[in-house]
Amino acid sequence: MSEKKGIAILGSTGSIGTQALEVIESYPHFFNLEVITAGKNAQLLIEQAKKYQPNAVVIADVDLYPLVKDALYNEDIHVYAGEEALCQVVESGNVDTVLTALVGYAGLKPTLKAIEAGKTIALANKETLVVAGELVTRLAKEKGVNIYPVDSEHSAIFQCLVGEFHNKIEKIYLTASGGPFRGWDAKALESVKKEQALKHPNWSMGAKITIDSATLMNKGLEVIEAKWLFQLQPEQIDVVVHPQSIVHSLVQFEDGSMKAQMGLPDMKLPIQFALTYPNRFVTDFPRFNFMDYPKLTFEQPDRSVFKNLDLAYKTMEMGGTAACILNAANEISVEAFLQDKIGFTDIFRINERTLTGVPSINQPEYPDYVTSDTLAREFAAKLIGK
Ligand code: NAD
Ligand code: MG
Repeated sequence: MSEKKGIAILGSTGSIGTQALEVIESYPHFFNLEVITAGKNAQLLIEQAKKYQPNAVVIADVDLYPLVKDALYNEDIHVYAGEEALCQVVESGNVDTVLTALVGYAGLKPTLKAIEAGKTIALANKETLVVAGELVTRLAKEKGVNIYPVDSEHSAIFQCLVGEFHNKIEKIYLTASGGPFRGWDAKALESVKKEQALKHPNWSMGAKITIDSATLMNKGLEVIEAKWLFQLQPEQIDVVVHPQSIVHSLVQFEDGSMKAQMGLPDMKLPIQFALTYPNRFVTDFPRFNFMDYPKLTFEQPDRSVFKNLDLAYKTMEMGGTAACILNAANEISVEAFLQDKIGFTDIFRINERTLTGVPSINQPEYPDYVTSDTLAREFAAKLIGK
């Protein structure tokens, strides 16, 4: 095995994936790019493969295989297609760390396979921990695998914990920008158009997470993600709206001391830290200037309007596959909103009704998550069809 760290990026054509490639490109003596994968964006995957020369590429959509295969015919690159291939490439001997930058439930299986194969995980795909946090963290413990967070809030918590792992966490505060509709009432939200929802004030991200940020589902998913990553009880996790997105999250210890991690909003930093931990590499990212931000403000999230946050807390109370059901409902409702099939506030309704309508399975193992995910998707799709 080479001295360099072998990286597989699942979802290299997305917002996180493309930024991760820039990070990896900046430190050629430290990283070897082994694998890149995409869902449907064959064109960009081909371009990336030609430029970065990984060992292997996977296009998840099998119909696009001939296109990718032909385009890379003259390159020394293995080309695969389909979900199974995604699960197999992460097991390759040259891969040390798997960056899960694909979106949604599709990330669960390859992440489990990577953990089973003993690979370090740099986790951007929060849905994996939301859906099956108990299973994923149990397996990681069994296999002695570390999961390093890429999500900025969780990276912030992790950075605050460096040097403090022996100290108990009393509480954490996840910060939220509040999204583009902060301060809006339920009536005003009824007429929100997708173009408005797709404009996030501080971060440029993939479509799904941008809508999740506008509905506060993203923060709900992050609360669940934090529960599993840091092994916390729900009452130890609080959310505070911080519109400037400079304080990325905070930890409160048992002596009352609080630590925060701060910086300009730029995902490249948490991506890089997840890949270089415990080291910090020199960057030329823009530095924070206090005079540009004379005021950092904090406020309560409006839970009565943005109901997804409470739904997320409710799933932690319910346990079993409840969070998996909520996640599936949300993937379906967000997709329907993006296709102009439902209105913005219908997302809350569909999520809530699916969570109450589909039974949660207790003490779930992998097949139970698959069952709950399927049932919840069907249930939510029926609601949309009505
Ligand atoms: P994105 O939509 O920009 O990119 C998603 C990537 O996954 C693309 O490469 C796409 O081709 C691939 N993909 C999509 N569906 C797939 C499938 N079914 N099978 C295989 N590959 C598939 O998304 P993103 O914004 O980069 O987010 C990726 C993940 O990171 C999400 O879970 C998101 O919540 C999380 N995250 C993103 C940000 C951000 O700033 N973008 C911040 C924190 C966390
Ligand atoms: Mg986040």
